[in-house]
Amino acid sequence: MKQSLAFIPTLRDMPKDAEINSHKILLKGGYVKQHVAGVYTYLPLAYRVIKKIEDIIREELDKIGCSELLMPALQAKEAWVESGRWANYGKELMRLTDRHDREFCLGPTHEEVITTVVRDSATSYKKLPLALYQIQSKFRDEFRPRFGLMRGREFIMKDLYTFHTNEADLDEWYLKVRQAYINILDRLNLHYGIVSACSGQIGGNSSEEFMVLCDIGEDTIAYSTTGKYAANLELCGLEEGATAPDGGTIKYAKGIEVGHIFKLGTKYSEPMGLSFVDVDSSKKPVIMGCYGMGISRLLMAVLEQNNNDLKVLWPTEIAPFKIHVIALDKPGTTNFEIAEDLQNKLEQKYEVLFDDRAESAGVKFNDADLIGIRYRVIVGRRAAEGIVEVKDVKENTTEEVSIADLTNYHFE
Ligand code: ATP
Ligand code: MG
Repeated sequence: MKQSLAFIPTLRDMPKDAEINSHKILLKGGYVKQHVAGVYTYLPLAYRVIKKIEDIIREELDKIGCSELLMPALQAKEAWVESGRWANYGKELMRLTDRHDREFCLGPTHEEVITTVVRDSATSYKKLPLALYQIQSKFRDEFRPRFGLMRGREFIMKDLYTFHTNEADLDEWYLKVRQAYINILDRLNLHYGIVSACSGQIGGNSSEEFMVLCDIGEDTIAYSTTGKYAANLELCGLEEGATAPDGGTIKYAKGIEVGHIFKLGTKYSEPMGLSFVDVDSSKKPVIMGCYGMGISRLLMAVLEQNNNDLKVLWPTEIAPFKIHVIALDKPGTTNFEIAEDLQNKLEQKYEVLFDDRAESAGVKFNDADLIGIRYRVIVGRRAAEGIVEVKDVKENTTEEVSIADLTNYHFE
């Protein structure tokens, strides 16, 4: 892909309204464009990363037997009245009225819709368990949208719902999903902790949060020095220095919640009449689990943990491109043509971004630092002799490589 066509509108100056590094990078690097507070366009660079995060999530969930569907964002009030949340959800729910004065909301989460989707079909124990997920934009009228994609009013979430005939089956699936979450966050190269949590607006009786550890996190995690106990401070109220339930000493750390998994039990199935006929012919409410993961927030969390002084290095699997070919000479020169040639060759094997812009080397390298691709192939002074430079940003090494050898170079 030619950078001149990629629409990566980087900024020269530091955006004034960004307080944290990941937010500064998003704006300065041309990843997103704010529409109004808490609502963003994902520009091509960010969207490439988001699609890759989504693919990792899909792969890990499909592997354990989950199926993807897509529910409506526009939800009728009636289902929310059935669950009791129309009255309870409060101001975060984006409510609207159609031309016939019928009330709706824009989904902040989808327990109501999914329950109505399965209740006519999951009528027998023979049809359970089920595990259904979607990746979709969610809407929440947050009191204080901030830190870019971290707390948006429209944001991308993966939400999974599971349906079971008994608690033991729910427990088994809960552990499978928990492991899938671990695999996903490991593949994203994140440093995180899993903590016991309150269930908040979604409800249910047991839940855990996946917290990416970083100083700008809005949540405080109380963890034990033994490493065997961790909980959201909201839940445990333990003071720093106190004795932890496992005998260790309590310490505090800041975290960003990127995932939340719940055992819902019958919180929705009972009021909404989602029941099944069991082996013994008795009618019972279906037992449910629900599992959220904030995809746009994950992008921020990865950026927050993978930048050094605003210089980005994306983890391999989700980098927007594999190789950044940078032409130091202007279009129309022989060296530029060599660079263009290289782009075409490398693109047969890799995802390549080719900086073909008529900009100075300084501007190109500054932008490359924000774009965060591990390998840079710099086509400059010795190109006519058949020599280019390969910079490995991760290892911080630069070597001269002959163009003939480049297609066999060990780009990891
Ligand atoms: P928070 O405490 O941060 O408001 P929550 O408990 O309301 O989160 P859930 O309802 O569990 O969040 O939603 C599932 C996931 O969606 C969260 O773990 C988080 O990653 C993401 N998420 C929630 N609210 C937002 C938001 N306003 N902007 C971006 N991502 C969000
Ligand atoms: Mg919230």
